[in-house]
Amino acid sequence: MDNELIVIDNAVVSYREDIALRGVSLKVSKGEFVGIIGPNGAGKTTLLTVVNGLGKLLEGKVRVLGHYLTPGNGHSLRKRVGYVPQVQNIDPRMPICVREVVMIGRYGILGLFRRPGKSDYEIVDEALELVGMSHLTQRPIGHLSGGELQRVSIARALAQQPELLLLDEPTASLDWKAQSDILELVKMIHNTRSLTTLFVTHDLSCLPVTCDRVVLMKEGIIWGEGSPGELLTDDNLSRLYDMPVSVVQSRREKAVPVHQ
Ligand code: ATP
Repeated sequence: MDNELIVIDNAVVSYREDIALRGVSLKVSKGEFVGIIGPNGAGKTTLLTVVNGLGKLLEGKVRVLGHYLTPGNGHSLRKRVGYVPQVQNIDPRMPICVREVVMIGRYGILGLFRRPGKSDYEIVDEALELVGMSHLTQRPIGHLSGGELQRVSIARALAQQPELLLLDEPTASLDWKAQSDILELVKMIHNTRSLTTLFVTHDLSCLPVTCDRVVLMKEGIIWGEGSPGELLTDDNLSRLYDMPVSVVQSRREKAVPVHQ
């Protein structure tokens, strides 16, 4: 069986006049946990979009879960790929509860006209339990904290029973405690569900403890890739972010960036 779940070969993606990816090649093996970092506008979200079958390739080839992406097959791919976007602001009047939001993760598999059955509710409740939200299943989605909302978003992705999990800055705008809790949760889910995970983050401190491999992106290219220990040096990070950054080892053995 093919061990490479993602093979991106020289992908070029543009949004009208802006080129977001300028010939990106990347391979990710089954079971890997890969962190993607880089400055704003580096192309990180666009890279996830390509893996998720939503990016329009100008050049190159992308094979995900054994299938080459074509303009027509993104939909069937997305049933097998869980996607967790950045924390979003939700209108508190939104009339939908936590359990219903997580059920949305089942609709890709159910199709538009089939109603969820007992097994779908079991899958949803199991996902809610895994993310520690069983006590809030009937709470309106607009009445949650940022950290709780992110847990629901992760549960929705898990309800799809994905083989591949993509997370786009899942800890952005959360406080330190919530960030650390979400990271531990994501790592636990990656391990217990034997997933392959791509994780975009601006939180450099989490990379050594969560990721097997780090991909550094800048200006639409992959600027470096390797183990966190090899790549997260003062020199590399300072050149990546065009400003002095130094990496300090904390007592928890995380690399903590200090802007000088
Ligand atoms: P950030 O860290 O700020 O989220 P990023 O590394 O995820 O950035 P992308 O969102 O992939 O970067 O954007 C890469 C480039 O593509 C940027 O120049 C951005 O302005 C452009 N871009 C992204 N999405 C669109 C869009 N929908 N329409 C036009 N240009 C876009």
